[in-house]
Amino acid sequence: MHQLFVYNSLTKERELFEPIHEGRVGMYVCGPTVYSDVHLGNCRTFTSFDIIYRFLSYLGYKVRYVRNVTDVGHLEGDVDVGAEDKISKKARLDQLEPMEVVQKYANGFQDMMQIFNLLPPNIEPRATGHIIEQIQMIQTILDRRLAYEKNGSVYFDTPAYIEQNHPYGVLSGRVIDDLIQESRDDLKGQSEKNHPSDFALWIKAGPTHLMRWPSPWSDGFPGWHLECSAMSTKYLGTHFDIHGGGNDLKFPHHENEIAQNVAACGSTPSKYWLHTNMLLLNGRKMSKSEDNSVTPQQLFTGDSKHFSKGFTPMVVRFFMLQAHYRSTLDLTDDALLAAEKGYRRLMEGNKALGKLQGNNTGDASELDREMGALMVGVLEDMCDDFNTPKALAKLFELTSKINALSGQQLDAGLLSKSTLERLQEIFPAFLFNVFGLKDDSSDQDQDIVNGLMELIIDLRKDARTNKDWGTADKIRDGLTELSVQVKDGKDGTSWSKI
Ligand SMILES: [Zn+2]
Repeated sequence: MHQLFVYNSLTKERELFEPIHEGRVGMYVCGPTVYSDVHLGNCRTFTSFDIIYRFLSYLGYKVRYVRNVTDVGHLEGDVDVGAEDKISKKARLDQLEPMEVVQKYANGFQDMMQIFNLLPPNIEPRATGHIIEQIQMIQTILDRRLAYEKNGSVYFDTPAYIEQNHPYGVLSGRVIDDLIQESRDDLKGQSEKNHPSDFALWIKAGPTHLMRWPSPWSDGFPGWHLECSAMSTKYLGTHFDIHGGGNDLKFPHHENEIAQNVAACGSTPSKYWLHTNMLLLNGRKMSKSEDNSVTPQQLFTGDSKHFSKGFTPMVVRFFMLQAHYRSTLDLTDDALLAAEKGYRRLMEGNKALGKLQGNNTGDASELDREMGALMVGVLEDMCDDFNTPKALAKLFELTSKINALSGQQLDAGLLSKSTLERLQEIFPAFLFNVFGLKDDSSDQDQDIVNGLMELIIDLRKDARTNKDWGTADKIRDGLTELSVQVKDGKDGTSWSKI
């Protein structure tokens, strides 16, 4: 197996990837909180981990990929200022059951993941389905005196954790002194916590709170950080290989996950922490309030002042591949127009590759060596912390050679059959299996067919209105010959293939 290097956010170093159990990888990625339509930035995060999942599988690892759905416990702000659960709030505002909110947005999320051609994870656990595991984990932390109960809520005891020589802030670099200062700056804090850096493991539900479960401490609900600790431990064990998420989750979410796991299980949950960077729009952070945002749907239809036209999901996916997952990615009209060209070029290159013929001489030419080096390079780039932009650049170099061979600017006799066969295997494998692209040109062809049929039906209608029976019959016979049946109904004319 090839040596894979990953950038570990925990150690802040590029490290050789060595799975805990040979040949197997356990990967946990923090999933969406399902109280609103999925944000394009989240689509980028999950697409990045989809590519990581696909590439690990391509390398031969047996991957168990767990991505949770947060359907309770994600508060709008800090617990001590009375912040509301995001799903509960949406349910109250829309007069729905919280689970109606969850179902609606979880469905929307799954649809969008399919549209972007993401593979489903192996397990997608929901927080509300794991209340028992969460209560058990809280009890363990309480038993170890690293948490305390106050008025029916349970808080993680950060000073006690530090006193036991566990470093808090190891991932984010945040130090307790800063947290105390931040808390002092927050004048609203009427806290029942002992210490500003403590955080809620269990939250007592107020009288009107919709989502509540019985527990030894109160009728209430679990804290968001705890959900991920409980679910990752249940499905991947107390120490697994990769934990991922967006950069914005480093603090406090992942920091607190680490503290909870150390407290309850005696070790950090995962060996490697991978974090993705932000998606920008025209160089700025996306923000609805500043009129600088776009939804995936607007991107597909082009119904946005930021874009000159619509782009297919595969063009958007290809665009996302053009930046490394740890770099910011700037969404602009120009960048998408360029991505569209690049994506089509690769798809056309792949089609041309399928038609190429190599020679049987067996002697390796300079061209064989060049193309062989590029193919190895694609794999090496992906083994270098999943460097998709560099790997793509090599696929484009290969495309230039494929096109030159196909257009006969390069002598096809220079390419050996063995190189060609390897390329015919590797090139589409990277495009479709690793990068998860699909050739959507057949969708485009279908659009053209639909447009042409509309035009033909219109011409037939005009001919009939003008009593031009000759033309009308010609159109009908022509369509019959193509096995296309035209039906005139109340709501207009439709067509189908017989
Ligand atoms: Zn999480």
